[in-house]
Amino acid sequence: MAITGECFCGKVTYRINGKLRDARSCHCSRCRKAFSSQASAYAEVASDAFEWLTGENLLTTYESQDGYGLQFCSRCGSTLCGIYDGKIHGITLGCVNGDPEIEIGMHIFVGSKAKWEVVPEGVIQFDKGPPT
Ligand SMILES: [Zn+2]
Ligand SMILES: [Zn+2]
Repeated sequence: MAITGECFCGKVTYRINGKLRDARSCHCSRCRKAFSSQASAYAEVASDAFEWLTGENLLTTYESQDGYGLQFCSRCGSTLCGIYDGKIHGITLGCVNGDPEIEIGMHIFVGSKAKWEVVPEGVIQFDKGPPT
């Protein structure tokens, strides 16, 4: 069954004809700003499995560095996906509808988490990025 997602105002919607991979949460200071949250929560997706259903014209892209960027709804501000070189490589789990049948597999950059955050137990944590 396809995975669907949408922004807060509901104008931008998408469908994924495939599975999500490598769900993770990053606690670095950049992700906190980008996601306006204690951490990011995202998963990778094959760009050819992803399609916008509605509202693609409302998307705004912010490229942070070296071709990496985020796309968000210009109406409500939800961050929907990460892009590289103009192609979608990952989606934010907060905008997914229902159960995408994946769980956060690791917490990364926990060493630079916000002082006020309590990281949940029971999932592997790395002070920095995952070992390569
Ligand atoms: Zn919206
Ligand atoms: Zn990060």
